[in-house]
Amino acid sequence: MSSSSSEDQQQQQQEAAYVSSCGFCGNGLLRIWVPNSSDNDRSIALCDECELYWEDIAAVIDDDCAPSSGAYPALGGAWHAASAEEIAKRGLQDFVQGESV
Ligand SMILES: [Zn+2]
Repeated sequence: MSSSSSEDQQQQQQEAAYVSSCGFCGNGLLRIWVPNSSDNDRSIALCDECELYWEDIAAVIDDDCAPSSGAYPALGGAWHAASAEEIAKRGLQDFVQGESV
C-alpha cells in the first residue's frame, strides 16, 4: 500500500440511500437503518424527518400508509444508516430508489 498522507478534504454531507418518501409526514425520506451490532441482521426503514420506523421495509414501500412499527427511540440500542455494502449484504438493494443528503 502506498502512503495516503494528505486526506484533509472538506467535510461533505454523505449521500445516503432512500427507499421511499414518507407517507406519514410527507416531508421525509425513508432510509434503511441497521444495528451497529454486526451479529444482528435486522434492518428497518426510518424516516429522516418524523423518525417513525417500519420493520417491514417491503410493506411500507408497497403502501406508504402502512402502519409504522413505532418511533426511533423505541428501537433501543445503537443504529446507523446502512451503507451500500450493508444494504447489498442484506439483499435490499432492489428497494433503493435513489440517494440524497
Ligand atoms: Zn416521516
